[in-house]
Amino acid sequence: MIPIRDLHSLKQGNPRDTVTMASMATEGLEVLYSRQQIADRVAEMGAQIARDLHGEKLVMVGVLKGAAYFLTDLSRAIQVDATFDFVAVSSYGKGQRSSGAVKLIKDLDQPIEGKNVLVVEDILDTGLTLAYLRKLFLQQHPKTLRIATLLDKPSRRIEKIEADYVGFSIPNLFVIGYGMDFAERYRNLPDICLMPPDNSE
Ligand code: IMP
Ligand code: MG
Repeated sequence: MIPIRDLHSLKQGNPRDTVTMASMATEGLEVLYSRQQIADRVAEMGAQIARDLHGEKLVMVGVLKGAAYFLTDLSRAIQVDATFDFVAVSSYGKGQRSSGAVKLIKDLDQPIEGKNVLVVEDILDTGLTLAYLRKLFLQQHPKTLRIATLLDKPSRRIEKIEADYVGFSIPNLFVIGYGMDFAERYRNLPDICLMPPDNSE
């Protein structure tokens, strides 16, 4: 519960309150990539993606829920005529381990046939999710299909798949924040942090 006086100052747009809330959220956690580092990299990725489109339109497809923050930031960094859609797949349960089976929980709202599609994902880990989605989307005959992932853990790969755009390549660490969760918690941390080892199983 946020005290009324804090809500009041937030409504006034007092930047100091925003900073206080943000640093409280990451207190005690080790920051792997700060919000500024993320913003800088997302801007670079957006510029690269826009260049590669040569003025053509784009459909961004975010993978819920982890990619929600990345998609909203990335979409504003890609200065082209773009729309976005979301899919949801079953992934990790309450811990860190994947069951291995990927299931579509929410399909695309709009057809992607003939479109330039950019799949936007938070982390490319074993590759099971993106390999499944790539196969599914290719059946719909998009004009182009590319993948942007904020984080890549190449050492964990089971499926042979690479992203066209990678924010940061990381070793086998479990991370939280900026959309990424542990048992649905911590998605709203503004920085990408390391999951403390004693909570991670
Ligand atoms: P993959 O199918 O194994 O590539 O895993 C993809 C999904 O696993 C990602 O979209 C994340 O939602 C989740 N995931 C993988 N590693 C992490 C992590 O370190 N923190 C939080 N979620 C993760
Ligand atoms: Mg995800």
